[in-house]
Amino acid sequence: MSRLVMKFGGTSVANLDRIRNVARHVKREVDAGHDVAVVVSAMSGKTNELVAWCSDASPMHDAREYDAVVASGEQVTSGLLAIALQALGIQARSWQGWQIPIRTSEAHASARILEIDGGELVNRFKERKEVAVIAGFQGISPQTGRITTLGRGGSDTSAVAIAAAIRADRCDIYTDVDGVYTTDPRVVPKARRLDKIAFEDMLELASQGAKVLQVRSVELGMTQNMPIFVRSSFDKPEDIDPHGTPPGTLICSEEEIMESHVVTGIAFSKDEAQISVRQIEDKPGVAASIFVPLAEANINVDMIVQNVSEDGKTTDLTFTVPAADYARAKETITRARDKIGYARLDSATDVAKISVIGSGMRSHAGVAAQAFKALSEKSINIRAITTSEIKFSLLIDTAYTELAVRTLHTLYGLDQT
Ligand code: ADP
Ligand code: ASP
Ligand code: MG
Repeated sequence: MSRLVMKFGGTSVANLDRIRNVARHVKREVDAGHDVAVVVSAMSGKTNELVAWCSDASPMHDAREYDAVVASGEQVTSGLLAIALQALGIQARSWQGWQIPIRTSEAHASARILEIDGGELVNRFKERKEVAVIAGFQGISPQTGRITTLGRGGSDTSAVAIAAAIRADRCDIYTDVDGVYTTDPRVVPKARRLDKIAFEDMLELASQGAKVLQVRSVELGMTQNMPIFVRSSFDKPEDIDPHGTPPGTLICSEEEIMESHVVTGIAFSKDEAQISVRQIEDKPGVAASIFVPLAEANINVDMIVQNVSEDGKTTDLTFTVPAADYARAKETITRARDKIGYARLDSATDVAKISVIGSGMRSHAGVAAQAFKALSEKSINIRAITTSEIKFSLLIDTAYTELAVRTLHTLYGLDQT
């Protein structure tokens, strides 16, 4: 007998039929004798709708009220799934974040889980064989007693955190794809499903734009050593052997992976904006005069490139920020103009970041150089580059995103054969 967390994303609970389908997946595992906690997302599209309502009500709304509104989507699906399970004759009870409680930081809309009391859930497994159906994405701030949410895609993190709290054997993430692929299978049909991927590689894939798992959930999986299994909710529930190994991807520690390729996968993100501060006097303190105000404004700077200006005397600094922070970043730099002392500000929002990831890169030279050559052969211009031990990222024009991803996918031998 195992203890399992089963998480179902938005498309898996998009309507009552799908919720009934989820109930059958849960029944299968309960019938096999497992203790089960389920974590659900809101119905697909619901959270977007709730977010839009908040913005429509007032663009500068109170983050505490935003959380009160957007957490409601998961309240609905957790209750409905408990009803669907009861209809199948399974003991089930729904739980919202505050009821467990899932204690989080006070950072509304991007709260971090601090502590989960899994005791009551475990008691109920033992005493009543009761399935816990938990609303994902939400918690409660002990300081204020108010509902918090964990950031978009946060139900993945709820699931892994609950798995750690109840000492589950595994955390299954059921979604609309049957695993983690070498790149988004919706963009590259030749993408290949990975049987296993190391936490580290998955962390990079997720943080560079592969939205299949929220970054924080992978971080938690890594620190708590909780195996995460990504699988499809669209397979017929009764066709799956609860003791077998269904199609899917196991995210686990590096030691468990026998075969390691130099490149594991490619991620991309179109939510980037580029800002170039032109003709700054090249002296100590210039970078600080730009990046300290941005940090104070809580703007995350990603890629940074410094080069000599066209006049040959001054310097240009180019950096990227999340597209959502673009206007604020420009405003921050403009306000600091006297202190920085620059001639011109150029910017672009039609840029995309392509990231090539693989822990095998640690021991291989020239991996990025191959990409530069392949992209130049397709006449794709690279605006900025960053590299780290197991990843490099390239900033290009958005229009070339798909072409660049496909080109690199083939280049590194990732295509399905
Ligand atoms: P859920 O609603 O179940 O949380 P998401 O939409 O958040 O699902 O995540 C699943 C989606 O992630 C897939 O439909 C797929 O398009 C996308 N995706 C991006 N990169 C990858 C990848 N490397 N492997 C698998 N899916 C990916
Ligand atoms: N419903 C939330 C969102 O759409 C959380 C999640 O689905 O993981 O962001
Ligand atoms: Mg998701």
